[in-house]
Order: sequence, then C-alpha cells, then structure tokens
Amino acid sequence: ARSNNPSGDSPIEIIRYIRYNPNSGKKLKDLFQHLHKLGYEKLDQPIYPIPPKNYFLDIHLKDVLLTFQGNTNWWLKDEWYEKGGIILQDKASCMPAKVLMEGWEANEGECIDATAAPGNKTSYVSAMMSNRGKLHAFERSPNRYNTLIRMLEKAHCRNVKAQRADFLESDPNNEVYSKVTRILLDPSCSGSGIVNRLDYLVENEAEESDSKSERLEKLASFQLQMILHAFKFTSVKRIVYSTCSIHPEEDERVVMSALQSKIAKERGWKLAPRDQVIPSWERRGREEEMGGDKDLAQGVIRCLPEDKTNGFFVSCFIRDPSGLSVKS
Ligand code: SAM
Repeated sequence: ARSNNPSGDSPIEIIRYIRYNPNSGKKLKDLFQHLHKLGYEKLDQPIYPIPPKNYFLDIHLKDVLLTFQGNTNWWLKDEWYEKGGIILQDKASCMPAKVLMEGWEANEGECIDATAAPGNKTSYVSAMMSNRGKLHAFERSPNRYNTLIRMLEKAHCRNVKAQRADFLESDPNNEVYSKVTRILLDPSCSGSGIVNRLDYLVENEAEESDSKSERLEKLASFQLQMILHAFKFTSVKRIVYSTCSIHPEEDERVVMSALQSKIAKERGWKLAPRDQVIPSWERRGREEEMGGDKDLAQGVIRCLPEDKTNGFFVSCFIRDPSGLSVKS
C-alpha cells in the first residue's frame, strides 16, 4: 500500500475505510455474508498491519465503519458499491456527523448541513436520522451542488432537502428552520490535513498568489462567520464545526474566537465537554491554542495520519440550557 506519510520518514499504513449505508435498505449482516463469499474474514478486533483478505469493525464507529487494507478493491464494480449500500469515507470524515448526532432522538426536530457537497457527511447524518424527518442541505457552488444531488440519490437519502444556496444568506428566523436543532458546519478549508485525497474533493477558493498566512487568515475569517451565523438559529442546541485542516489558525483559534464572540455569550453557546465528543478518541486539542484551558482542549478532537486517518479537526458547540455565559 502507498504510504500516506507526507514526510516519508516512517511509513504509515494506509487504510481503506468503508461505511455501511443503512439508507440503502440492505442489512449489515448481508454485507458480512457478501464479504465472506468474496473470501474476506471478519476479525473480532483490530490487527495492524491489516492482513490481506481480513477486515474488522472500527472501534469508534462500530455500527457502520469497516476497515480494510489500503489497496483493497473488492468494491470496484461490486453491486454494494454501485447501488449505494456502502460509501468510501475516511474515518475522520465520519466523526463530525457522529458527534453531531450524539443523543439524537427521532422526534427531536430537523438538521442543517450548511456546507454539504459532495455529501458524504450529509448522507451519514441522513442515515442517523433513519432517513426520516428533514435535513436541510446547503451548497453554494453550482458544480458541487450537482455532485451533491447525484451523491444523495445514490445513497438513497430521502429526507434531505438540498438547496443551491449560500448558508450565510439564509435567514435564521425563517419559519422553515424553526424546528432545526442541530447544524453541521464543515466549511471550505485549506485541506492541509488531507494526505489521501481519494475520497475528497477539496476546492481551493483562495487566490493562488496569496501567501500561506494571508490565505489562512481569509479562510479563518470565513469559517468564523459561518459559525457566528449558525449561532443565530433560534432552536439550535448543537453545532459541529470541523475542518480537514491541521492548522490551529483554522481549528482551535477559530473555535476560541467563536466562543469569545458577543453572540456566543448572549445566547449561551459553549464548547461541549469531552464526554460528548467521542471521548475514547485520544488525540485532543492543543491546549496552548485554547488559552491554556485543559477542559476546552479536551472538548475537541484532532486526527493525524499517525491515527490512520486524514488530518482533521472536530469541535462541538452546545447551548447552555441554563442560559449561563460561556467560559471565555
Ligand atoms: N461536508 C462535505 C462532505 O463531507 O462531503 C464536504 C464539505 S467541503 C469541505 C465545503 C463545501 O462547502 C464546499 O462544497 C463549498 O462549495 C461549500 N461552501 C462553502 N461556503 C459555503 C456557503 N457559504 N454556503 C454553502 N456552501 C458553502
């Protein structure tokens, strides 16, 4: 398997993650049986390097994520793939949706995916809503919107209302969003964490002539604007902000600016504690980027290629039910 370690120092094992898609109507046990027929044996626990013709369920996303050797290609032209029964999705990319839907109950309300294309996280959220209720999906780029529509169709998502629109232009007080309780924000970023680009379409919106710091500054300002806009939705109580960047400028520092904003304080937005954000994941935030606050840093997740994933960052804002101000 190709190494995904950009420095090339120590080879890092490339993994092929495959997410089972319950929206397809197919059963997970039938997928296991199908793999058995293809000569794949399911291991009860992880073994690295993953032996050929073996696979196991991921320990953090047990119910959906299958883990194979990186060069595994049984899915090519396989009907499970062709018909949307499985989706190729890096483990780190599954995490924001998983964190967003923590504690979700069927009658809770609706969700928004503010930056949806190509739709991997949208389809996972849709599946965690059991393909019921309503998931509003925004995508402002016309080309990427078309990709999103194709993806949602292939993934059998029937509860997604996709719109080719800019999330920043949406009206948080519009009656249409009055039942929305959760928002996923996975905005454009530098993509600096992506070392295995197979599953991703990362667009670069910045001018090529920009220096790295100017580019990061522009991205961070846009990312913050997106969070502050999400804070305005009246019924929302949970917002996940994620990037596929490893730069603190787009990660912890954006989160800190959001927490320190006037609107966060007025509306009681704070950072979710570790126990709501995949607590068993060990790599947490950089304390030094979060004012030296250990609890804040423990509340966010970072992923690096050493963790057998792409580089990624996941944070979760929750609204304090007692209406107290955030820790700042
Ligand atoms: N969540 C997606 C997934 O997992 O498949 C990836 C999202 S990608 C990192 C960011 C997307 O947000 C891009 O498709 C970009 O065009 C879109 N976008 C950026 N700014 C936006 C905005 N203001 N409103 C709606 N979509 C936006």
